[in-house]
Amino acid sequence: MNKKCCELLKQVINNLYDNIRLDNISYDKDEFYYEFKSDIKISENDFNKLEDEMRKLDDSVFVKLLRISGVYYNGDANNEMIDRIVGKAFENKAEYDKYLEFLEEAKERDHRKIGQDLDLFCFSDYVGGGLPLYTPRGTIVKDELQKEIEKVCRKYGFQKVSCPSLADISLFETSGHAMKFNDELFRVESPKGHKFVLKPVQCPHHTQIYASKIRSYRDLPIRYMESDKQYRAELQGAVGNSLSRVYAITVEDGHSFCRRDQVKQEVINMCNLIKDFYSRMGLWENNWVSLSVRDYDHPEKYIGKKEDWDICEEMLQEVSDELGLNAKRCEGEAALYGPKLDFMFKDALGREIQIPTVQLDFATPSRFGLSYIDENGEKATPVMVHRAVLGSYERFLVLLLEQFKGVLPIWLSPVQVNIVPVNIKYHDEYCKKIQNILLEEDIRVSYDDSKEQMNKKIRQSNIKKNPITIIIGDNERDNNLISYRLLGNDETYSLSIDEFIKFIKEEIKKR
Ligand SMILES: [Zn+2]
Repeated sequence: MNKKCCELLKQVINNLYDNIRLDNISYDKDEFYYEFKSDIKISENDFNKLEDEMRKLDDSVFVKLLRISGVYYNGDANNEMIDRIVGKAFENKAEYDKYLEFLEEAKERDHRKIGQDLDLFCFSDYVGGGLPLYTPRGTIVKDELQKEIEKVCRKYGFQKVSCPSLADISLFETSGHAMKFNDELFRVESPKGHKFVLKPVQCPHHTQIYASKIRSYRDLPIRYMESDKQYRAELQGAVGNSLSRVYAITVEDGHSFCRRDQVKQEVINMCNLIKDFYSRMGLWENNWVSLSVRDYDHPEKYIGKKEDWDICEEMLQEVSDELGLNAKRCEGEAALYGPKLDFMFKDALGREIQIPTVQLDFATPSRFGLSYIDENGEKATPVMVHRAVLGSYERFLVLLLEQFKGVLPIWLSPVQVNIVPVNIKYHDEYCKKIQNILLEEDIRVSYDDSKEQMNKKIRQSNIKKNPITIIIGDNERDNNLISYRLLGNDETYSLSIDEFIKFIKEEIKKR
């Protein structure tokens, strides 16, 4: 069907437009592609017409054109850019209708749309694509997520550290990242002769905090965590106005330096930490675990000793068995320095996102000459366990926003309470009083004192997904009451001011 459809599309475009050149058709089992060069700019607005024309030529086809974009002719960057239309064909009307429904749902859940509706992040041509800017509201969400993950991690013994974004290239040469990421490194130079690299990962920096003191076997495990930006020079065409792929990612990263006899328990703790955090977020369901091991045919892609790799892979298998993770062995998916457990989540539309990970590393500590003094007073080398729980904030937000369609729990909401007066002329003063009382109680509150009608303000409040909207009229003002509605519920409840504060504080505590 896809084959038939790309031929039909070619025919239609050649009928409708003059001077089509360099054209090419191709297809796979999911989609079909038509590439061409034309003097006329065809856009997605023309898709309906093109689909109709295709149906006129053959009414047995059900087809949906999905997108148009620029590609290099024959996929070669030395060639000129041409247009490519991507479409999808269906066997029958039922399948076609089902797919349209899916697209509608996808549009509604698209984090770019939700991010805009909720005013969480933006992009600027001046700053550049792939470099998201968090608005005040988005920054609150990000900060709250950070507080939450740090709170959970502290329970598991992690301490917060803070490192600069730059480092001497020798740091990454020693760690092996300069080799591994080579063409993904941002190199920073100054006219004064500085030569730095923007950090692509935080691990090498953390090793140097460990190395700043003499450590005893009794000090271990030592666990550091940091949420900070990392930089990767992704392909220019691959980034855009989406959080899915960016140059600057904010990564919640952490490392544990431990003794060999502590490694297994460390890995178990981290898996429990991951489960703990994702359960709190309501995201634990729907995940599967990958035990990512070496590519046995290409040992040169990795650093470290073969015996250590064997031990590590076996240990992770044991952890998977003991915790009932049921990890699937994926060859060739290991990190540069060791095997790992990757937790894969399904997003709301069934696409897979890998976020949390636990990685074993016997190689990096010896590369940096890290040590501790063991029971016998001898120098020994610690093992490093890398872990990301929340992972990249950008990717986590995609998962969260799409899963919950932008409805965030109250503790995470940019605005927790929005105040709407019935009539601003009579209720302004009391609204301001309530706003101040709530501010004093550390509750994130906004007051809609615009000129709009009350009903419109309530609608706006719902669009912004404010969890609680307070409505203030004569009765509230005269009796010192607060009347409120919960998002998604038209019922109005009334409480005294003190009762309301008690109620909302309980709500904010909930996870
Ligand atoms: Zn690391």
